[in-house]
Amino acid sequence: MKRILTGLKPTGDLTLGNYIGAIRQMVSMQDEYDSFLFVADLHALTIYQDRLELNERIRKFIAMYIACGIDPEKNTIYIQSENEYIPAISYLLECTTTYGEASRMIQFKEKSKQNANFSVGLLTYPVLMAADILYCDCDYVPVGIDQKQHVELARNIAERFNSRYGETFILPEPLLSETGTKIFDLKNPTKKMSKSEENPSGVISLFDDLTSITNKIMKATTDSLNQVHYDLENQPGISNLLNIASSLTNISISELEEQFKGKGYGEFKKFVADITVKHLGEIQKRYEQIINSKMLDDVLNKGIKHSRQLAKEKYEFMKTKMGITRNDLKI
Ligand code: ATP
Ligand code: MG
Repeated sequence: MKRILTGLKPTGDLTLGNYIGAIRQMVSMQDEYDSFLFVADLHALTIYQDRLELNERIRKFIAMYIACGIDPEKNTIYIQSENEYIPAISYLLECTTTYGEASRMIQFKEKSKQNANFSVGLLTYPVLMAADILYCDCDYVPVGIDQKQHVELARNIAERFNSRYGETFILPEPLLSETGTKIFDLKNPTKKMSKSEENPSGVISLFDDLTSITNKIMKATTDSLNQVHYDLENQPGISNLLNIASSLTNISISELEEQFKGKGYGEFKKFVADITVKHLGEIQKRYEQIINSKMLDDVLNKGIKHSRQLAKEKYEFMKTKMGITRNDLKI
């Protein structure tokens, strides 16, 4: 069975973008793949987080994953920081990564521009992500397009490590969903919807109450062309809503365009709001049952045990390949 892995960082409440771009993909693949899903809390620390909020959010993430349809029986679910081998592997990989490669990452360039006092962790973030991916020999990494470059870096690091020290890692591939790969901010539809965004009016959180979901969609920025048509360049707002509607209903974009031909934006937005509310309302109902149940700790204990075992083996193997071990070097 091929292995897939995805992690989301608890920098804010999970968004509709995270759901469509990452979690839902994992749900649809969990029957056919050996699936790993984690909360990337170490990654969240690259930007300062309030400890109480962060701590609460980590648990909420796990419960929300399950509420979104992630089956704890079919997935290895864990909290990244509980696996101490991952940062250790990351350090060994940092020594196999060039400064040029790390500083060329778009996310690093963007986020380091926003704050002149950015942390070293922001630069090494993609290497830690490479460790997340490579320790467990995963084949595919389902991600939104914003993370594709990081998976490619992981692949390059793995290739370099293999050629320097001998076969150690499987080369991972990013896996992008066809529709709704990237969901944009409703107020600023040329910008990706992000959970760390400070202005909540363009971001749908999976925890938003249903009335505010409707309000946010009804107030989404559109254009003056007055046609429900998919054109990311000239009609980014409407295209984004088409993407959301198409991915939540599995109705194709062209069918939706046909369905709303000659109709106003108000009617189209109401349709998108209704299906989003229906979808997220069901998820929220399940979430309420899960968040206070004892199952969460059982799920996490089982997940971390599996994850640590694999990471420990990989770490020892890497150390031996690199010559820093007291064990026999002949492997
Ligand atoms: P942050 O603002 O802290 O970067 P984020 O919302 O971008 O948060 P991440 O934790 O960086 O979320 O990413 C988690 C996963 O969700 C990744 O697979 C990423 O590709 C996907 N993802 C994030 N935002 C979107 C989006 N707007 N559309 C589709 N997928 C997304
Ligand atoms: Mg992100």
